[in-house]
Amino acid sequence: MGAILVGCDGIRSKARKHILGEKDITPRYAGYMSIGCILDRSAANLPADMTLPAFLYTPSGTFLIFAMDNSNDKIQWATSINTPERDRRHGWDELRASGEALQMFREEYKGVTMEPIRTFVDALSNDNLRLWAPYEVPPIPTWHTDRVCIVGDAAHAISPSVGQGSAQAFEDIGLLARLLASPTAVQKGFPALFDYFEKTRRPRVKSIQAASAQAEGGRGKSGSIKWIIKSWGMWAGLNIFGKGGYIKGKLFSYNVMEEKIQM
Ligand SMILES: Cc1cc2nc3c(=O)[nH]c(=O)nc-3n(C[C@H](O)[C@H](O)[C@H](O)COP(=O)(O)OP(=O)(O)OC[C@H]3O[C@@H](n4cnc5c(N)ncnc54)[C@H](O)[C@@H]3O)c2cc1C
Repeated sequence: MGAILVGCDGIRSKARKHILGEKDITPRYAGYMSIGCILDRSAANLPADMTLPAFLYTPSGTFLIFAMDNSNDKIQWATSINTPERDRRHGWDELRASGEALQMFREEYKGVTMEPIRTFVDALSNDNLRLWAPYEVPPIPTWHTDRVCIVGDAAHAISPSVGQGSAQAFEDIGLLARLLASPTAVQKGFPALFDYFEKTRRPRVKSIQAASAQAEGGRGKSGSIKWIIKSWGMWAGLNIFGKGGYIKGKLFSYNVMEEKIQM
């Protein structure tokens, strides 16, 4: 029998259930499904000078486009459509397999002529359509007992609006591994070590959740005027006011290996 258990068992975590017992939460549906597909870059009608990843704003929603690998030969695009929650796995599979999801997407974008969105719409079929329904784990009272600790989605699944879910799981593990490798930290006992881990990680996770909630605002339908404000607002935010500073400083330049351990 091991001394401790670290549960990295995802959004429907059994380890979390062990920790929270009857107080365990039900993951919260984020309110939208993501739809997209993989295309050859040559067939995607992207401007030649477009660097990836890129966001494209339309009145009906925001598109994320990213390269599938370093060769840049294949790209994936994804957008989201607000829709009621379906039954856990079966309901979402059925929505895709029946062609209803494709129909909903085509209906939403039927009048759009702007490229490359038009090409994306025309290229989407029931054979290549990918569908995900994001769920979140809302803040829970604790991430650990004396000997069991959860990390990653099990503790704090975040909707993918800022693409930080796995990043947070890696950061959790980075800090926990450093603590477990520290004789001083281990000497204080596992309950104190887990407590320190949770207290250190919570503020960082909270700030990512806040950034994700903020990004949610830019994701969905906006109508023509709001769409223009949103596109230019994002451009100005990144290029004039912040030069990417908010994103670089607050989101991406954090290094968990530089986090000072004081226990
Ligand atoms: C549409 C979408 C887009 C995303 N985009 C991004 C992105 O761009 N960037 C980013 O950083 N994150 C992104 N994420 C989030 C990311 O996928 C998750 O945050 C990440 O996978 C969480 O990792 P995890 O190891 O905590 O959980 P999981 O990846 O869910 O892994 C849990 C593992 O535990 C296993 N398991 C479960 N129960 C048990 C058990 N009882 N015994 C043994 N094994 C068990 C499961 O089989 C699974 O392999 C996205 C998520 C979605 C849905």
